[in-house]
Amino acid sequence: MPARKKLLLGNWKMNHTIAEASAFCDSIKDTKELAKERGIQIGVCPSFLSLQTVKRKAKGIVVGAQDVSAFESGAYTGQVSIPMLQELGITWALVGHSERREYNGESNEVCNAKVKALVSHGMTAVYCCGESEEIYEKGETNAWVENQIRTGLKDLTKDDMKNVVIAYEPIWAIGTGKVATPEIAENVIGYIRTVIKSMFGKGVANRIRILYGGSVKPGNIHEIMLKPDIDGALVGGASLKADSFRELVANL
Ligand code: PEP
Repeated sequence: MPARKKLLLGNWKMNHTIAEASAFCDSIKDTKELAKERGIQIGVCPSFLSLQTVKRKAKGIVVGAQDVSAFESGAYTGQVSIPMLQELGITWALVGHSERREYNGESNEVCNAKVKALVSHGMTAVYCCGESEEIYEKGETNAWVENQIRTGLKDLTKDDMKNVVIAYEPIWAIGTGKVATPEIAENVIGYIRTVIKSMFGKGVANRIRILYGGSVKPGNIHEIMLKPDIDGALVGGASLKADSFRELVANL
């Protein structure tokens, strides 16, 4: 089985002004060295406004957008296109974060259009999925997430899948302090891998990186990352401060 490099990706959401993002970049030099020593890929997803600054200052880390339009250009007020991101050298974007699904009504079909647009431009899509507390309580997590995966990644080729990372984020664990147990996360992520296998074959299933997200902190990241199917973490709150981000890398 090919080794999958661990990935720690911070999702800053609507936090950090350009000045704050810039200060973060000034304080992560040793974190970058630590990540390199430990063979971990690290990155952050700042607001659109901070992308240029972070890309310029934080050399050698992944810098991703938190969203992107599926359209090239046109009458889409407030949206940002792939060519606009590419002009800044940005090659990664999150797609379908649960907050965008909830507050912006993004469906699996819309996410599919965004993932397809990204990979067709050679960019990497971090496709987010995850169930609500209600679905979890009903024991319907696997069916829910399977539908998100099958629809969101519909019509992609095996080759396209080289540029896809999946993030499993149970909504009930995002920003709530209620982290999924490593066993729950591993079970769902293992299931996602079987869905990917049935869609794209064993090679893609073994190669694709699947992250866990939801109240990951320096104190719990290690036990979650011990699980064999979990290839890293998408982290909100604990990725905002440079010290905490460093501790996540140290403990991963
Ligand atoms: C997220 O926003 O993707 C996330 C997992 O947030 P938090 O780590 O704060 O729960």
